[in-house]
Amino acid sequence: MSKFFSNKLFRYLSIFLFLNSFIPQVRSSSALAAWVLNTNGILELRTKSNTNLKAYFQKANQEYGDRFWIDFPGELINPRTIKGNGPIKEIRLGKPNEGKTRLVIEFNEETYLTPLTWKLVGLDQNRWRIKLFNPKYSFKKIGEGKVNQRIGNIEKNPEATYSKKNDYGFLELPNVERNKFTVVIDPGHGGTDPGAIGIGGIRETDVVLEISKIVKKLLVEKGVEVILTRKGEVNLDLPPRVSFANKTDADIFVSIHANASRGKRRDINGLETFYFKGWRGRLLAKRIQKHILRVSPGSPDRGVKQGGFFVIKNTKMPAVLVEIGFLTGRLDARRLEKAAHRKRIAYAIAKGILEYLSKAG
Ligand SMILES: [Zn+2]
Repeated sequence: MSKFFSNKLFRYLSIFLFLNSFIPQVRSSSALAAWVLNTNGILELRTKSNTNLKAYFQKANQEYGDRFWIDFPGELINPRTIKGNGPIKEIRLGKPNEGKTRLVIEFNEETYLTPLTWKLVGLDQNRWRIKLFNPKYSFKKIGEGKVNQRIGNIEKNPEATYSKKNDYGFLELPNVERNKFTVVIDPGHGGTDPGAIGIGGIRETDVVLEISKIVKKLLVEKGVEVILTRKGEVNLDLPPRVSFANKTDADIFVSIHANASRGKRRDINGLETFYFKGWRGRLLAKRIQKHILRVSPGSPDRGVKQGGFFVIKNTKMPAVLVEIGFLTGRLDARRLEKAAHRKRIAYAIAKGILEYLSKAG
């Protein structure tokens, strides 16, 4: 690994590439709305929603020191240079070519950097963060604009909620009439079928079983009867799952899965929820999708879609199949391997179900 990266060819290193929704290819104003480099070495950005960012690092050469830069769509009106301090030599905002904006951070010679560990993380549809240097360096904050400002109809950033202990907005679940509803939860796969295998060997069967059990517990606390199609690592083929569900007279059927992309592409992330037909299935899918997205900031919304999956096509009650993220995606896998995130997803699914039951149940 170190040998690989010490090769000169790899000095020019593309750190991260986010492929979000489409970007209109018209010439427009810069997608960079605000930025701040904090004393702790963390660069925070606010952009237009669903912006495609590319970040790069280049080792010092005769002309420049070590440089980190991010390219944004949209053209900057007034290119400028801001004098740095501490580990930062200067920060430049420029237009590398027509229709683009580039934010360049040039470091002083003696600054120790570890660009191979850098990650540009999407916090929300319009907020980003990357840690560039160690807080041991004394540095006076530099920035332009307000990075925390909300835009349009974007709800509060859930990431901010997590950091405040005792303020877990996503934990608030609506009440429904007790002892009235029955819900079938189907943790995808199981037994000899592990489902998707993701980065680091993370297995779909384990992730969705754990989440399904938490969803069950949350719904039971609200007085909803919950039937799991499997409780452990058992084989239950698809037809038995469906006939089992159909025998229960349940109000709804929710199958929980995690995705894998063809070719295990790490740049593919996102959440989606499928229904087979009918407004009830669609409403249930919409509610669940809304809440799982809220606890997965930065991960793309792949939408609520019609799908003909066996388990939702053949169940007689309104049925949905939710894909809680890509185990092969860098952003999603990193989250789904954390118990705290799996719990958030479980709350989100439970919230969507309870909202549906209180409206349409
Ligand atoms: Zn699956």
